[in-house]
Amino acid sequence: MKKIIANFKMNKTNSEIKEYIMKLLPKFEQGKVDLVLCVPFTALTISKFLLADSGINLGAQNICDEDDGKSTGEISGTMIKNCGADYVIVGHSERRVKFKENGRIINKKIKLALKNRLKVVLCIGESLAEKNTLKTNEVLKAQLEEALKGLYENELDNIIIAYEPVWAIGTGKTPLVKELENTIKVIRKVVTDDFSPKAGEKIEILYGGSVDLKNCGTFCKIKNINGMLIGGASLDADNFSQIIKNIK
Ligand code: PEP
Repeated sequence: MKKIIANFKMNKTNSEIKEYIMKLLPKFEQGKVDLVLCVPFTALTISKFLLADSGINLGAQNICDEDDGKSTGEISGTMIKNCGADYVIVGHSERRVKFKENGRIINKKIKLALKNRLKVVLCIGESLAEKNTLKTNEVLKAQLEEALKGLYENELDNIIIAYEPVWAIGTGKTPLVKELENTIKVIRKVVTDDFSPKAGEKIEILYGGSVDLKNCGTFCKIKNINGMLIGGASLDADNFSQIIKNIK
């Protein structure tokens, strides 16, 4: 079953989320795709309530890299779990760039998420400059190794890798199928080399970056990809329902 993760980013008030979920639920068929909605922190509690018994999972978009109370304005893994979320996005390129999150911080966040029994959606991806200077493989290897440092192989069961080229996010540009297949192979090889062949084969890898109604079928057919992380195109419930229908 394909995994589809919606990243709402900093969009939707609680009343908008309520309207969205009420539209999505009648169109959602349980057991066809594994769906996770990553909503803003402010909407976690109401979303959990509205999604009860729907088979749709809930996720947050960030987690604090500290576990103590001395982090004004931040949200801890304990709080996220307590709101009813089971997933958290870590290492999104917007956080790496705007909020200067480096590999060390991302590694701390992953460990705290796992400690709180949250599944981690680890985003990795190269910038346009890195792609143009043929550094993609090197960049992805470094991002993965920094993020997964010190983890045990069995912890990878709770890590989902989302390959999101920075140049593809919100731009309408996407990698060629061949390019994408090769990059996914590279990611699996890093996991194989650092953990085991079984881990490299088993780890879930998603593609993210300008997935929409037109191209979702193409990405869906790529063997080796376990699903998609969808930003902008997930924001309209009717459009997103249609994407889900095409994918399943
Ligand atoms: C994202 O921000 O994670 C993303 C995939 O965005 P979009 O689908 O809008 O490119």
